[in-house]
Amino acid sequence: MAQPQSEPEATTSGYLDFEEIKQRADVAQVLAHLGYEDKYKVRGKEFVMWCPLGSKTHGKKDSLAINSENKKYQCFACRSKGTVIDFVKIEQGLHIRDAASLIQRLTDGEKPEVEKPNTESEDTNEIREALEDVKERLDIAVADFLEEVNQCKVMIEEIQQNVS
Ligand SMILES: [Zn+2]
Repeated sequence: MAQPQSEPEATTSGYLDFEEIKQRADVAQVLAHLGYEDKYKVRGKEFVMWCPLGSKTHGKKDSLAINSENKKYQCFACRSKGTVIDFVKIEQGLHIRDAASLIQRLTDGEKPEVEKPNTESEDTNEIREALEDVKERLDIAVADFLEEVNQCKVMIEEIQQNVS
């Protein structure tokens, strides 16, 4: 039986050599594809950028470094680390196989579709913003309260000194 033309789909359901995909991956290409083209700085072998992975706040520091040679990344803020495949997996909210497949197709010159995991509705964003607001107010309230407590302590000490 004649073999049909090799279909690109075959790679997604077939065997994926993660090691080979990792080795062939072009970090700059992957980052560009995910929309971080102008978000990183190149320092030697490393691509340094703000970490999009952690759910916790990362501040504004560039805490993520991706090594273009060994294709490994590490974030010193959220402690996330792994290979470029893991990075795509987490960033895209994909299964590891789909992440590997995406990189493979990218390396092979295809333009696989990137679906941002941000399927959050505007409502979710509003709730998140409201929550941030409440947190901020709470922080201020706690700071004010502690300040008040300290002042009371000082007053108590002064009164005690006057009594004795
Ligand atoms: Zn991080």
